[in-house]
Amino acid sequence: MDLRPMRHLSRRSLLSGFGVASLAFAAGSRPSLAAAPISAVATTGMIADTVRRVGGDLVDVRALMAPGVDPHAYRQTRSDIVAMTRADIVFAHGLFLEAQMEGFLADLGRRRRVVFVGEAVPRDRLLGHEDYADKFDPHVWMDPVLWIYVIDAVAAALSDAYPEHEAVFSSNANVMRDDVRELQEYSSGILATVPEGSKVLLTAHDAFRYFSAAYGFEVLGIQGISTESEAGLNRVGELVDLIVSRKISAVFVESSVSDRNIRALIEGAAAQGHGVRIGGELYSDAMGREGTYEGTYLGMIDHNVTTIAAALGGTVPDRGMSGRLSAGL
Ligand code: ZN
Repeated sequence: MDLRPMRHLSRRSLLSGFGVASLAFAAGSRPSLAAAPISAVATTGMIADTVRRVGGDLVDVRALMAPGVDPHAYRQTRSDIVAMTRADIVFAHGLFLEAQMEGFLADLGRRRRVVFVGEAVPRDRLLGHEDYADKFDPHVWMDPVLWIYVIDAVAAALSDAYPEHEAVFSSNANVMRDDVRELQEYSSGILATVPEGSKVLLTAHDAFRYFSAAYGFEVLGIQGISTESEAGLNRVGELVDLIVSRKISAVFVESSVSDRNIRALIEGAAAQGHGVRIGGELYSDAMGREGTYEGTYLGMIDHNVTTIAAALGGTVPDRGMSGRLSAGL
């Protein structure tokens, strides 16, 4: 018996494949419709979640970067290479986010179907990159309005590759788009409750410039747009002076970046007699734990905006947009 067509399938996808088969039988459809799921690989968790939602049961998605992993520094492993070269379709962010994988992804794109979803955001909506004149800031997921372009790009790429399932992809994409619009309204609403003078977001690296543009916050990162270069002592000193002079009460750590620099700021401010606390941990470049609400795009942004608004003096509902956030904000 030739097992080759099944070699890429996990036990879970096999089981869900059988589930689809029995449903197809029950509905009297042709069993051939219940083919093995399309195998997709996505680089970041945010993209994987989007492909999962748009693809539904038809697509089996593997995310390369686990929660807490920094995409600026991530380099593909041997098993990632195997997964990507065997996948039916690969989704990457592009815009120089996966800086260490760029050469590999470009090369793969000449042989396989590789979709750079960040590139779907129109050029006039992208912010420039402070270190490279010809590059853009890749952190577009921080503005839900921009993420809608990514949802569209995922649906278009899947429909292009598998036109027989276009209606399903399009309907799933509509549902996610509605959720993301609701997220955008919720975010604007609660962030507007933060007093004007407190709309300052200080984090470990510059991941929040799209957030700033969308919600009118001043954002300051200790490190730049990429986490690759070390923050200088001068930068830390400058920010300490700013925290003290502007009486900033809270700064934020990020789940995918070391908190060493943020702690240096807090100590520096304390040495000048100003108490500043950690307002919470934000999901900047990676989502929360797998299997949790925070481990989805919606939950990630809900967590961030709710945490920021709460720490900076805004009014937030218990457990966020839909009561699903973990306690302890
Ligand atoms: Zn980043």
